Amino acid sequence: MAEETIFSKIIRREIAADIVFQDDKVTAFRDISPQAPTHILIIPNKLIPTINDVTEQDEAMLGHMITVAAKIAKQEGIDANGYRLIMNCNKDAGQEVFHIHMHLLGGKNLGRLLG
Ligand code: 5GP
Repeated sequence: MAEETIFSKIIRREIAADIVFQDDKVTAFRDISPQAPTHILIIPNKLIPTINDVTEQDEAMLGHMITVAAKIAKQEGIDANGYRLIMNCNKDAGQEVFHIHMHLLGGKNLGRLLG
């Protein structure tokens, strides 16, 4: 069994977070340490530690994460100018929380992906 992270507590609203969207599949909330004017994390309600652990059964939910990201980008008013979606996997990508999450970043020119 994968070990729960702080994100499970956020999903269950046991600890505070600025939740901007939640349904039966995913939860989205503002990152505690924003790297851009808009920085929102979109996570599955189901605990999946890393991208390496996704299965074909997760495909609909993973697609839903992108649909939700697009809706939130519109709500945030950053859809026309643009934004970046990032998912980190394990140490070379700097993954810190082992519950998969998609970063939605925007609200300024983000520059090139790898500097
Ligand atoms: P990673 O580096 O794993 O891709 O990103 C983890 C992200 O989760 C970081 O951007 C970090 O600021 C954010 N984060 C970690 N703990 C918390 C928390 O308790 N609340 C919120 N809202 N964000 C968190």
